[in-house]
Amino acid sequence: PPAEAPVVVINAHGLPYLNARKPVKERVADLLSRMTLEEKVGQMTQAERGALAKQSDIAAYRLGSLLSGGGSTPAQNTPKAWADMIDAFQLQTRQTRLQVPLIYGVDAVHGHNNVVGATIFPHNVGLGATRDPALVEQTGKITAREVKATGIPWNFAPCLCVSRDDRWGRAYESFGEDPALVTRMATIVDGLQDNGVLATAKHYAGDGGTAYGSSTTGDYTIDQGVTKVSREELEAIHLRPFEEAVERGVATVMPSFSSVDFGDGPLKMHAHDELINGTLKGRLGFEGFVISDWAAIDQLPGDYATDVRTSVNAGLDMIMVPYAYPQFTGALTAEVEAGRVPMARVDDAVARILTQKFRLGLFERPYADRSRLGDVGSAAHRAVARTAAAKSQVLLKNDGGLLPLRRDAKVYVAGSNADDIGNQSGGWTITWQGSSGPITPGTTILQAVRSRAASVTWSRDASADPTGHDVGVVVVGETPYAEGQGDVGRAGRTLELSAADRAAVDKVCGAVKCVVLVVSGRPMSLGDLSGVEAVVAAWLPGTEGDGVADPLFGAVPYTGRLPFTWFRSAEQVPINVGDASYDPLFPYGWGLRTDRARDRLKAARDELARGDGSARGAAAALTLALSGRHWNADGSVRDPRAVLDALGAAASLLERSKSDSYAVDDAVVSVARDLAQSAGKRPDLQASADHELAEGELRKAVDLLAQAGR
Ligand code: BGC
Repeated sequence: PPAEAPVVVINAHGLPYLNARKPVKERVADLLSRMTLEEKVGQMTQAERGALAKQSDIAAYRLGSLLSGGGSTPAQNTPKAWADMIDAFQLQTRQTRLQVPLIYGVDAVHGHNNVVGATIFPHNVGLGATRDPALVEQTGKITAREVKATGIPWNFAPCLCVSRDDRWGRAYESFGEDPALVTRMATIVDGLQDNGVLATAKHYAGDGGTAYGSSTTGDYTIDQGVTKVSREELEAIHLRPFEEAVERGVATVMPSFSSVDFGDGPLKMHAHDELINGTLKGRLGFEGFVISDWAAIDQLPGDYATDVRTSVNAGLDMIMVPYAYPQFTGALTAEVEAGRVPMARVDDAVARILTQKFRLGLFERPYADRSRLGDVGSAAHRAVARTAAAKSQVLLKNDGGLLPLRRDAKVYVAGSNADDIGNQSGGWTITWQGSSGPITPGTTILQAVRSRAASVTWSRDASADPTGHDVGVVVVGETPYAEGQGDVGRAGRTLELSAADRAAVDKVCGAVKCVVLVVSGRPMSLGDLSGVEAVVAAWLPGTEGDGVADPLFGAVPYTGRLPFTWFRSAEQVPINVGDASYDPLFPYGWGLRTDRARDRLKAARDELARGDGSARGAAAALTLALSGRHWNADGSVRDPRAVLDALGAAASLLERSKSDSYAVDDAVVSVARDLAQSAGKRPDLQASADHELAEGELRKAVDLLAQAGR
């Protein structure tokens, strides 16, 4: 493979498709016109790199794409080994007549998570808790840089599932249970694609809505099961994030393994002509290409030729075969020759794929840019992951204001997830299922606590005596899993704490004041919390344990909010905000904060100041609200009337703005709450704050302020 220098393609024959100055459309049409059926079918085939009988099969079958499935990693696992591997595959395409480059894909679902040493971000559940679409976009940008550095231009992310049931093993791949929240987090598409990596919106559609205990194969599994919905419900809950992703120009979409049942029986998404050809490519106007999920067409009823015909005719453009490339290419060629798959369908699929390859510049720069290898896991990238982890922490309970902890405290640390990079990273880390232990460089929560607290006693099983310490930090939760392996009921998975974790909580919290950190991909049954002062949902924070310790010790405030309803007991699951009878332990959107309302108002002002004209006007009004004359030295409001007037002016201006911001919602809601509380009222705005746009919330809050002011 070529070493340092970028490869210049010398177009000696002046072929239009090799001319980078020509418009993409012309290049696609020219290349397509030169292709044989065999070459076209090759473009529609994606094989797993570990499935290649020999590397020359890339040229022999004219493969269009390769992937590394979640579980497979090169033996020498370094960023450079990845770049070498992918360049070597790419070099094989030089042996073909038309030299169409491969497009290589990976699941970089929370950073470049197959690569040892890469920056690992919180899983989507934690990113949802940040309520910070701009930060989420930045995680996409950094992921793209690290993926790109190893020569990979395509990421099977983001998962835009709206997970409605905590028992699903993929709940943590979801930004949350509320479609509005998931839709707002689609900014990650821009983060990836503006930085040279194609995004994949997955899994289309309804993957997060499958019924527990339902599957077409007859066992109890919720993963890959059946979503029973009306068309209206599918639209309102599961399609909205995809509409947003399409609007943002997402390049690829992956159908879900699951089935949709509109009332006339379940139909596999990989055969869903109505939802793929009709809704996605038709009504939503999706112009990218549709990539199947892993061997998903094999699950369709009928023989292999039928699977191929049904899925391609339903609108799939590229099939992740992933082993069966000889069978697939043979079967598709035969189906086209027999007229059962129209040539026009094949041409459309190939044109969609080639369009993306040209747009990426793969024909001009097919190899890794070796000058960027140092980006992988860089300090600057880890700093952003640390911020994301910090902002993802949700403070569920904080009796007596135990948090933040003092740095001079004598701290006792226990629990299964305190000192484990693998556990805090979760599934899809280095291997498909993830695993416990020091699987990749990073900082554990224990290490981060040790670098802050004056004195730390570490006793994983809480066998050491906790008495005599100022505070206990018990880090409990789940061990890694991915997909169906994490479904509750499978392999002994439950939503309960392990006996060892529960015993550690009882022992430590029975002896000293304590905080329980829950490192998990979903809400868990925590049992009796009466002896526990503070509880933090830490989710799966990734490699940067410092991000968990930052708010714990007050370097930054707790600002995260629940992306999932926290159930009282596991029997309540599925439980979602908006349910007719809703009696959770902590409602959707809940999250105590350790910053002051005034500081939040300042943050909101700064954010609005970067917005459009009306937003900047609102920022000016907030500046008036923030005037030192209206506030006491302790951060409480001195002049509610003046603050109210200024917020009212900001609200009117925001109504005219396109800015739609959680920071503004949060700030105004919290100031309103403070004021209302001081006027003897206890508004519970928080639970509903995600269901309206910022203006609506602002209006509600201002009304409350008006009541409180009176
Ligand atoms: C998962 C996808 C993933 C694919 C490739 C499948 O099992 O459902 O989310 O992109 O594998 O690794």
